[in-house]
Amino acid sequence: MLEIKNLEVKKDGLAILKNLNFSAGNSEFHVVMGPNGSGKSTLARTLAGHPEYTNYEGSIKFKNREISDLKADERLREGLMMGFQHPPRINGVNIKRFLTRVLEKIDGKEGAEKIEEKIKSATEELGFSEDLLTRNINAGLSGGERKRLELLQARLIEPEILILDEPDSGVDVDSLELISDQINWLHERGTTVVLITHYGSLLEEIDLEGARVHLFSDGKIITSGEQDLVREVEDKGFNRIYEECGCD
Ligand code: ADP
Ligand code: MG
Repeated sequence: MLEIKNLEVKKDGLAILKNLNFSAGNSEFHVVMGPNGSGKSTLARTLAGHPEYTNYEGSIKFKNREISDLKADERLREGLMMGFQHPPRINGVNIKRFLTRVLEKIDGKEGAEKIEEKIKSATEELGFSEDLLTRNINAGLSGGERKRLELLQARLIEPEILILDEPDSGVDVDSLELISDQINWLHERGTTVVLITHYGSLLEEIDLEGARVHLFSDGKIITSGEQDLVREVEDKGFNRIYEECGCD
């Protein structure tokens, strides 16, 4: 479904991602971990079609099609959705109206009533009040609320692939549970999840059966394994694993 070959992304003339290879199939679960500054968010932004990350070398194919010429909203319509580490604020757009527009664009055939119902039930799932839906997007929302709002969008859209960049950063325990529930829900319904995260509590709440875990260093994935690699990272830290496998 997603295939990345020899990806190189430069910023200010400096290569941040180098020779990165990664692929994900239908309904798979991938965890991407790595030290700060190793390039994880750069990968996420590049995949999302962030306008500052469109000049890359190598190939990114989604459903067998090169996506370099697709803008972020076109990628979303194709089924590729991204949650940001620091979701942007958009002033002047009411959350409910925004969600309604997104749904109309994605499944335009559904009637207004159905859309209203979908938004209402997802809002409850994510622990939001109706009152919050009348606010502007991300204005006056806490970090945790913004992350939850992204998962709410994901639940409504049910993308084919969802890339989440640290959905656990700056989030309290209760929000963490709501977020992990949604990630599990989406994966059970067939969404391929690529979860970029630090070690820790989020992964404990996620069903990692059959997941692939990838470790990042200096702009590329240098080793991959099964779910027990998460525990190894917690026990040893990245540097020791990299020294031991000689893959640094
Ligand atoms: P991670 O998400 O793994 O912490 P990032 O992808 O955010 O890493 O950053 C990887 C490296 O790229 C860091 O050294 C960072 O300083 C650098 N970097 C990220 N964005 C930019 C940018 N817009 N311009 C220049 N350097 C950048
Ligand atoms: Mg990051």
